[in-house]
Amino acid sequence: MSTDKCKRRKGVPMLSVQPKGKQKGCAGCNRKIKDRYLLKALDKYWHEDCLKCACCDCRLGEVGATLYTKANLILCRRDYLRLFGTTGNCAACSKLIPAFEMVMRARDNVYHLDCFACQLCNQRFCVGDKFFLKNNMILCQMDYEEGQLNGSFETQVQ
Ligand SMILES: [Zn+2]
Ligand SMILES: [Zn+2]
Ligand SMILES: [Zn+2]
Ligand SMILES: [Zn+2]
Repeated sequence: MSTDKCKRRKGVPMLSVQPKGKQKGCAGCNRKIKDRYLLKALDKYWHEDCLKCACCDCRLGEVGATLYTKANLILCRRDYLRLFGTTGNCAACSKLIPAFEMVMRARDNVYHLDCFACQLCNQRFCVGDKFFLKNNMILCQMDYEEGQLNGSFETQVQ
């Protein structure tokens, strides 16, 4: 399942330009830009030092030619993806999992922490607990063994 809404947002281009004519004010610190180069992004001018990622404080002009914005934040690509990207769809509830959320992984599947439970008895698993994947369902050991006994699972080639 994929919709247009899920399309990855493009970054906003940054340009390093030489100031021409009247001195520009920096959108970050509001002071005049007297440097040899300034950055132009989001239709504003910035000191190279003032256009920084709101998360990691890196100077965006140095890490790439694009920045990312969301909810009034200016971010580097790494932080943007970490905060607003997605890990994938939860194999249990099939909703998108944002990249900053902790997930459980089993084989190629990812799960919300809350969704990672036996799909028959809802038992949650702790670190080190045994779980089984059968027909793409997560199962606790008891349900797995019961299913094996009843032959309710078709045999899968592992
Ligand atoms: Zn500035
Ligand atoms: Zn950053
Ligand atoms: Zn889920
Ligand atoms: Zn169970």
